[in-house]
Amino acid sequence: MKITFLGTSGANAYPEAFCDCHNCEQARSLGGSSLRKRSSILVNDDLLIDLGPDIMPAAQIHGVPLTNVQYCIQTHPHADHLDVSHFISRSPILGVKNAPRLQFFASEETLQRAAETFLRDIWDQDLLSPELQESLNLSTHTLQAYSPTPIGSYTITAFPANHAPGLGARVYAIESNGSRFFYGTDTGVFFEETWQSFRDLNMKFDMVVLDHSFGLTNSGTFHMNAKEVIEHFARFKQEGLLNPGARTFATHIAHDANPVHPELVSFASHYGYEIAYDGLTLEI
Ligand SMILES: [Zn+2]
Ligand SMILES: [Zn+2]
Ligand SMILES: [Zn+2]
Repeated sequence: MKITFLGTSGANAYPEAFCDCHNCEQARSLGGSSLRKRSSILVNDDLLIDLGPDIMPAAQIHGVPLTNVQYCIQTHPHADHLDVSHFISRSPILGVKNAPRLQFFASEETLQRAAETFLRDIWDQDLLSPELQESLNLSTHTLQAYSPTPIGSYTITAFPANHAPGLGARVYAIESNGSRFFYGTDTGVFFEETWQSFRDLNMKFDMVVLDHSFGLTNSGTFHMNAKEVIEHFARFKQEGLLNPGARTFATHIAHDANPVHPELVSFASHYGYEIAYDGLTLEI
């Protein structure tokens, strides 16, 4: 699988446009990998994780057209991960030609919230109705947790995220052609059921990507800090969940708790993990 990070920031981008903290000012002067857009990733050229608010500029800046995207799996409905205006902006209604029909997968709660937001902010019609989905070149599907589901050439397993209670937030294992990775943002420390499910499903990973919002200085619920990320990667290793040569990455890098990219890379390398950045493309 080819994986492209389209965005790697926390909820409010990095630098946060309105902020003059040390990290934001340094990111402005350094540019490059220290400039982060809101989180989303592209797998091969046909699977998107999160229909995020910055996927349009990401596609432009990183030269990654989304013209072949057929599938989107949505982590949760927070606005830094889901911009419902894309349902209409990518449709024939706004002149889009030859885009494949989008198969959009999420939890029941996330689909409901997406429909409410669409109704409130975009158009006075039910996003979940077959008639509107026909016009939008869209099909929505509910994805059950803990249940490996074939989607195109992938097998995708959703797990409940420790995030946004009541909104059906999910983290995902994605498998294709004998390799598998885990995409874990936004989430706090994993539920024990997630570890148990890895064992029950006999999962091993070639790459694990985890939430690093609280970085080096903050702590709290529903996201992770560096210490928790380090502990999670250690547990992946101890439980034999990593294939030889597996790579471990942090993403969802918030400006208020994480230094600029080169400094964060040097911190993380000390603990044996890597820091994702916008435009990073890798093969697993
Ligand atoms: Zn987020
Ligand atoms: Zn800042
Ligand atoms: Zn969130």
